[in-house]
Amino acid sequence: LTILGLESSCDDTAAAIVQVGTEGPNILAQVVEGQTQLHNDFGGVVPEIAARAHTEKLDGCVAKVLEQTSKSLDDIDAIAVTSGPGLIGGVLAGVMCAKGLSAGSGKPLIGVNHLAGHALTPRLSDGIAYPYLMLLVSGGHCQFLEVKSPTSYRRLGGTIDDAPGEAFDKTARLLGLAQPGGPSVENEAKNGNPKTYKLPRPLLDRNGCDMSFSGLKTALLRARDAIVEEHGGLPQAHRRDLCAAFQNAVTDVLVEKTRRAIALCPDATAVAVAGGVAANMTIRQGLVALCNAQDLPFVAPPLNLCTDNAAMIAYAGAELFALGHYDDLTLSARPRWPLDQTAAPMLGSGK
Ligand code: ATP
Ligand code: FE
Repeated sequence: LTILGLESSCDDTAAAIVQVGTEGPNILAQVVEGQTQLHNDFGGVVPEIAARAHTEKLDGCVAKVLEQTSKSLDDIDAIAVTSGPGLIGGVLAGVMCAKGLSAGSGKPLIGVNHLAGHALTPRLSDGIAYPYLMLLVSGGHCQFLEVKSPTSYRRLGGTIDDAPGEAFDKTARLLGLAQPGGPSVENEAKNGNPKTYKLPRPLLDRNGCDMSFSGLKTALLRARDAIVEEHGGLPQAHRRDLCAAFQNAVTDVLVEKTRRAIALCPDATAVAVAGGVAANMTIRQGLVALCNAQDLPFVAPPLNLCTDNAAMIAYAGAELFALGHYDDLTLSARPRWPLDQTAAPMLGSGK
């Protein structure tokens, strides 16, 4: 099975070709074209600019992966596209492009939930078996899922306010560090003492697997202001200590909540992470130690598969297609699409 995948739900335009055979999946080609430059001056992704850029770049991305694999659309079995959730203009751009390719080539069209793409990535990278526990931690998302099949997910909990990546980014901003905040904060934290400042661990012993990160940011702001008041500025050593304290607080929350999520999924074959925040070594080490203690494999796909990409969409499309799920030209873009409703439409019913 050879699937072409398209992704355009946020600020990355991506295409990939994934082949799934008896030996498992194989990424034949993938390209990701980011838009960071375009949005830099605005302090965040501007949906209209993103949509326009996707429209301009999608065809080129498709042409590139076809060229890299010396394939034509005739060699492709189906076309998978992110049909939600995400910024509606970008999702529409991808869906329109995929419909055009499908109509022109006669190849089946498969609408894929972007979050399902992330959630199935550990099967693409490491071939783990269902069911498994997934922690999705990125700039926009933070949730625990029990992944039971390509169409069956159980949400165990998640953030009730900010996502951790967002909290890292805001922390960096508060401390005058470069964006994206995750890597800058992690770098500063390396030489900091996490014990100098005490930051809260919100919801740690309450609310099951739910998490909260916005209070942490407020506490950090207060600590920063106290330092500035005392020193007339933010000395480097204090900034490092604040970064270390923040990173440790996030790690403690994620590790403790993962422990609870594991307890809710006694059949899980592994614990997997995805999303940009999974790149953080302190967080990773905390999760590895927890999984070792619980005798569960820990899976962290390579970073380029953890952040937005089209290989995960092509792969998720392949799993759906193998089960007989596909769409027709009435496929629509869905700005919101909770994962636990993923199984609802499809089977050629065209939603
Ligand atoms: P989504 O895909 O959920 O809509 P997104 O596109 O913002 O959100 P990703 O690209 O998966 O998410 O991840 C980006 C986020 O990951 C940013 O908030 C960034 O600060 C964070 N991040 C990246 N590297 C690290 C790191 N080393 N430590 C902590 N956070 C990190
Ligand atoms: Fe994503």
